[in-house]
Amino acid sequence: MTLNLALTSDQVKKVVETVKLNKPVYADMLDFYGKIFAAQEMSKGRIQIQPLQISEEMRNVKVSEQFSLIAIKEFLFDEPEAGRLFFVICNLAKEANPKLAADAAAILKAVDNVIKPGELFSGLLNGEDPLYEKIAGELKISETTLGFISYNSLKPSLSLCADQLSAYLKKEDPWLKGYCPICGSPPVLSILEDGGKRSLICSFCWHSWSAKRVFCPYCENLDSKTQHYFYNEGEKEFRVDLCDGCKKYLKALDARETERMIYPPLEQISSLHLDYKAKEMGYESGIPLAMQV
Ligand SMILES: [Zn+2]
Ligand SMILES: [Zn+2]
Repeated sequence: MTLNLALTSDQVKKVVETVKLNKPVYADMLDFYGKIFAAQEMSKGRIQIQPLQISEEMRNVKVSEQFSLIAIKEFLFDEPEAGRLFFVICNLAKEANPKLAADAAAILKAVDNVIKPGELFSGLLNGEDPLYEKIAGELKISETTLGFISYNSLKPSLSLCADQLSAYLKKEDPWLKGYCPICGSPPVLSILEDGGKRSLICSFCWHSWSAKRVFCPYCENLDSKTQHYFYNEGEKEFRVDLCDGCKKYLKALDARETERMIYPPLEQISSLHLDYKAKEMGYESGIPLAMQV
């Protein structure tokens, strides 16, 4: 049975509550993120984007060369819907910690004046860091917060685009790379299932793809002697894979060790203590700093 990672907004709310009960230390954080996740899943149902078309010839070249199907700048997004979510997330952030709340209030005040959400979205996909630097400087806000709100507003469009594009990926063409076959980004999480099945989850578009059980996606190391893992007693559903080839780590969720539903963005947030521990042990995250929570 394939694990269902596509949850509805109500299912997301439910699983967030379950994790909050199990991990009270994350309660405040999950109150905030849980509302964002639920808003994103609601938003998905309203998004209208035309599926990206890739010719058979292009698809075959990409697959045989092991190139991702698209580059990040090619993602399509529903601008009005992402803009609406931008407001929702800013308003949620206004209820969060004081620094985030102050930044969110400044962003809301500047919309349509200094800030045009559509430009932020295109800027993010095109890697236009100077645009973010300029706005953050002008409004005296954190660039990370501006990036966080923009990315999370775009995320439902990105996932939908990735879902549509996944139709071009065929089971008979194994993907042996450590980056996302849709957009080329590194994985943020790995999921283990029955029968030795392992999936990697993209840190940008959240597409999931199958990977070998012993394989470091960051350096493509297949040697089991230089890869190990640790886990905390009492939290057996999580483990952290460590690679001595590149000194990077990747968190893994073992679906066989939990009865609850699994929602990758929630798993990523509610296991940040494992990131700290892996870093203390001298390993680095394999995802870009901007994508780390
Ligand atoms: Zn991706
Ligand atoms: Zn490695």
